[in-house]
Formats: sequence, C-alpha cells, structure tokens
Amino acid sequence: MASSLAGPVRVRFAPSPTGYLHVGGARTAIYNELLRASLGGAFVLRIEDTDRERSDPAMTRQIQQALEWLGVRWDEGPFLQSERLQRHRARVDELVEQGRAYACFCTPERLAPLRDAAVRAGRTFRYPRTCLELPAAEAARHRERGTPFVVRLRMPDAEVRFADLVRGEVAFAAEVLDDFVLLRSDGTPTYHLSVVVDDVDMGVSLVLRGEDHLSNTPKHLRLFEALGAPVPRFGHLPLILGADKKRLSKRTGATSVEEFRAQGILPEALYNYLALLGWSPGDDREILSREEMVAAFSVERLGGSASVFDVEKLLWMNGQYLWALPPDELRARLEPFLAEAGLAEYRGNPRLAAAAALHQVRARTLRELAAQLRPYFHDVAWDDEASRKYLAKEPRLPELLAELGRGYATAEPFAVELLEAALRQLAEQQGVKAGALIHPTRMALSGSTAGPPLFDLVALMGRETAVRRLAAYVEALRRL
Ligand code: GLU
Repeated sequence: MASSLAGPVRVRFAPSPTGYLHVGGARTAIYNELLRASLGGAFVLRIEDTDRERSDPAMTRQIQQALEWLGVRWDEGPFLQSERLQRHRARVDELVEQGRAYACFCTPERLAPLRDAAVRAGRTFRYPRTCLELPAAEAARHRERGTPFVVRLRMPDAEVRFADLVRGEVAFAAEVLDDFVLLRSDGTPTYHLSVVVDDVDMGVSLVLRGEDHLSNTPKHLRLFEALGAPVPRFGHLPLILGADKKRLSKRTGATSVEEFRAQGILPEALYNYLALLGWSPGDDREILSREEMVAAFSVERLGGSASVFDVEKLLWMNGQYLWALPPDELRARLEPFLAEAGLAEYRGNPRLAAAAALHQVRARTLRELAAQLRPYFHDVAWDDEASRKYLAKEPRLPELLAELGRGYATAEPFAVELLEAALRQLAEQQGVKAGALIHPTRMALSGSTAGPPLFDLVALMGRETAVRRLAAYVEALRRL
C-alpha cells in the first residue's frame, strides 16, 4: 500500500537531453510539480547531460522550452549535471577512503566469460569481488603500473526492501545485486553515482520517476546509505502504452510534447490529459484547472498499472479547452497556425476572428480550426463523389443553385434570416426539400459536408464570395 505523505517535499525532474521531451517524461514532471504544489517545498530541474555522446545542448533548450510551454514551473535550476563531475568524483574518493567502495582492476575481458556463464545459467551476473579481497601490496603494484581500474560500491549482503509510493512494498534479493561500478576506468562517473550525489546535494526528499528506473533503485538506496545521507522516498510511475499496448513509441503516432504542440494541442489540455493518465482526482471530473489538480493531488491516487495513451480522448479534451477560450485568447493561440493554412496575411482580419468564433466549437485542434477558416478567404475544392450524390437525388440541382445564386446576389440585407428564408422559399416553390439545397450549398461554399449552421457561414462569407462560388459550383456540376 502506498503511504501518505506530509510536506514540505523537495522533488526533482531529471531528464537526459538526448531527444525531445517525451510525453512520459512530461507526465513525470507534471506529477512532481503537482506534488510540490500540493505539499509545499521545492521542485528542482536537473539536466542529466553526462553522456556526452548522446546529449545535445539543443535538446536541453528544447526540453526547457517544452516544459515552459506546458506550464510546468520549477523552483530551482536547471542545473547541468556535467558541471558537477568533480564533485561526483570527490564523493567516490571519500567512499574509497572509508572502505565503502574499492578499486577493481579486473578487465572487461576477464569478466566477460563470467557474465556469459551467468546469462547462460539464467542468473544475474554478480561481480565475484576478486578485487575486494586484493592484498594491499598487489593493489599498490597495479597502481604503480597504472593498470586501469573502476571503482565499485561494496554492497551489503542483504536484500533491499522499500515502500514504493506507487507500487507498495518492493524487495530485491541480495543475489540480484552486486558491487556495481561508480567510476569508470576513464574516470567518468556512472549514472548511478551522478544521480545519487546530485540528489543528496540538492536535498531531494522524494524521487518520483519512471518505472524503467525501478531496478536502479536498490543500488541508489545503498549508495545514499553509503554516503551517509538521508534516503529519499521513492515512487515509480508505470509506463505509458501506445494503442498497440506496447511502450508508447513512434509506431503509433506522436510521442513528444513538441509534436502535440505542432498539431495544435493546447498546453493546458495536454497538461490536464497527462495528469489524468495514471492519476485520478477521486471523482469523475475530467476537465480540471491546475488549481483544482493541486487541491486534489495525492500520491495515493497514482495508479500502479500502465495507461494507454488515448489520442481520441486527448483530442476531445483539447476541443473542450479550445471551445472555452475567450476571443482574444483564441486569436493569439491561432496565430502560429495561420501560415500553414495560407492565412498569414489575414492576421487581424475581423472576418477571420468572426469565422474562428463560429468554428471554435467544431475544431479539436488549432491546426484543424485554421484549416476550417481557409474557405472564407480562398477557393475550395469540391468533393465530386458527394456532388454526384446530390445530383442523383436532385437532377435539377444546377438550375436550382443558379436561381439561389441570383437571389443571393440581390438579397438585402445579406444576413442570416433573409438568406435562410430565400433558400426555403425557393425549395418550396420548386417542390424540393430544403435539405436538397442546403447540403450542396454548403459544399459549394466550403468544400465540406460538415460545418457550422449554413446561413451563419454564408452571411459571414459575404455576398461576393458566396455568389461567385455558387456560380462556379453550378458550372462544375454541369461538367460532372
Ligand atoms: N536522467 C534519467 C532519465 O532521463 C532520470 C534519472 C532519474 O529520474 O533518476 O531517464
């Protein structure tokens, strides 16, 4: 069972800048932020960039920007782990002096067959502690000769047990733990060393991180103890799965915060969606403000089983947030998406703003919304298949629409009520259903079979465009 927590807490998010911020990482950051906000304390951002080959400074900036965009706020940092390597080494020297860690001169070549044998026997490889027992004179000889060595932590021969905040009681048998490496033979600290020394120095009292780190935790617990530091509480969050029930990856679509941003997902919607992917406020609320999430947040309600990333649900939620945006806000959020829809030059255009308000409820993303506004300013392509169906239902359609166009050319005022009355009157006079004219008119003007109430659309589009497009569509129908 997860146990309750009292604040204040010092938590951290520690991404490695090896790629764009993954939604799994973003969710970890969000939970840490919510924990800190609900219990008080501090949230530290630490960039774990010690793997020089895989780390990229551009990604450090990217991750930070993605967090800022998402609205995740931290109190301290970002600290760069790579700037602290001297400190990591210094702590290893202390451990060696105290006999808690030791130099190991065994070469990888010597250990490889032992490792292979363990794998073949289905056992976890454990370093046989050859160098722990090394007579002092022999160790001194190695040093004189400059034999390369690694430094290993001397692990107590006991199982490691801890109460995971998400998973409950977790135990690792002594047999699966060995004297792991702290410092490599080139003098660089391992991930285990850097992460623990930093957590100690940054006073981290609670580590909430992905389940992929669970097997590292027994090592880290022992290292905290060896360093004489208070041991933080740990919680491991289950993986996020894709629609294929495998770890979320490119196979099933977008995975990075950046991609969702580019699709026109709103940051507050993504935040809300990710927060609920593995946590519940304890009731059936789904749309929650950050304040409501902070008020409701507790580790007890973090779920222990993997969640499936449901893109449809995210789109639904985004649609809800999009709908709720006040006009000025909507205009500002939409701006970066105008260029892609060929609407950059209409920025600030009152018709664009009015159309955005009309379509706001019908779009699930900002990108979709921008695309829906295009017909107000640019010619449209017609769906021939839909057009053929309209014609099959009503062979007189070209004549009827031509007549409607003539009516619209002189309708005064060019406003919703009159536009609707004109269409209905024409339908009645000609003995056809209003729908037989409404759907083709929508296609003529917007190139789409769905959209806002037709006469709102016509009125907003304006006489000139509506009349011209109706006439062009009549021609197109005749050519079909
Ligand atoms: N840097 C690690 C990662 O990106 C996280 C380390 C941790 O949270 O302890 O996976």
